[in-house]
Amino acid sequence: MFGLSKLFSSKSVQKQPIIAALAAYRSAAFAVGIDEVCIENIQANGDNPLLIELTLPFAACSEMPAVAEFVSEQIKQAVDIRATVQLPADYKFKKIKHIVLIASGKGGVGKSTTAVNLAGALIQEGAKVGILDADIYGPSIPMLLGLVDAKPTAKNDKQLLPFDAKGLKAQSIGFLVPSDDATVWRGPMASGALTQLLNETAWGELDYLIVDMPPGTGDIQLTMSQKVPSSGTVIVTTPQDLALADAQKGIAMFNKVNVPVLGLIENMSHFLCTHCGEPNYVFGKDGAIKLAQRHGVPILSHIPLAIDIREYSEQGKLIASDHAAAISRTYASAARLIASQLYYQQPHHNPLEIVITDD
Ligand code: ADP
Repeated sequence: MFGLSKLFSSKSVQKQPIIAALAAYRSAAFAVGIDEVCIENIQANGDNPLLIELTLPFAACSEMPAVAEFVSEQIKQAVDIRATVQLPADYKFKKIKHIVLIASGKGGVGKSTTAVNLAGALIQEGAKVGILDADIYGPSIPMLLGLVDAKPTAKNDKQLLPFDAKGLKAQSIGFLVPSDDATVWRGPMASGALTQLLNETAWGELDYLIVDMPPGTGDIQLTMSQKVPSSGTVIVTTPQDLALADAQKGIAMFNKVNVPVLGLIENMSHFLCTHCGEPNYVFGKDGAIKLAQRHGVPILSHIPLAIDIREYSEQGKLIASDHAAAISRTYASAARLIASQLYYQQPHHNPLEIVITDD
């Protein structure tokens, strides 16, 4: 799948070494070969670095500086790589290519914070992204996006317009029904509301729709995960034993309904000492890794307990979208891993071996 139309428009450019270098590049997320990345153009530009334009089959644009560095070293010439994202045209639901459920076995582990920042990170990686807040027990996505007083508007008498939070399309179950008394919810009612929101929101074309699920592994969560045509789920946990035990129940529940578990995210994994920078494992260490190994699922990220994360959330801002914040890179690498997992799990691919990283 080469984009040959404009390819190699600069005649002086040696194309084979570039193709070989691109094909040799590997990282935890970016393990696609040259035949799957589409080279659109290679352009010599005087004394400036060689410009290579790529189309990627999954959201991984922030990997490009590392790819450029690798290719530059291989071909002994400075290159600059620009990439756009074009997922294969396999639609999971209407014009949505992938629906990803963000779940947790237990409340308060940072599921919503993680969901919304993963959505923001996927946008940074070049994708078209939406988020659906389905947490009937405490819909918090509007607050996390600074949309507290927002009221939904109708596109026509059949469809609602999603909110636009700096390019992220957002919709919340909290707009549809008050969350004051979540005890009245039953599985069919919750899954009905979820499918209604999914159906009646004018999402337009999306690469990824992130669904912030209600915490827990009961009848409600089970019915909801059965009703949504999702590509997979990410389970958020903290390192505490109780949270890990509930995360394990989550893995079992998704296995039961045949929703692939893309991986675990260990949130509040450690606290970086503000004085010496050393990690403190406040809630324990290695529990999530052991759980992941036991179930053969990858750990997608260890997200630290960070004051910045809470402060950005309280201000309705996404830390994942702020390149100046170091933590944005942690969300970015988790987002790339999720995007690549979704790509590789499609039928024409063998499963990707995920490398556990420290960031
Ligand atoms: P859940 O959706 O699992 O109930 P939330 O995402 O609402 O949890 O997070 C609960 C609280 O923890 C919020 O105040 C949030 O700002 C805070 N929080 C979440 N993740 C982190 C983190 N990694 N570091 C610091 N605070 C966090």
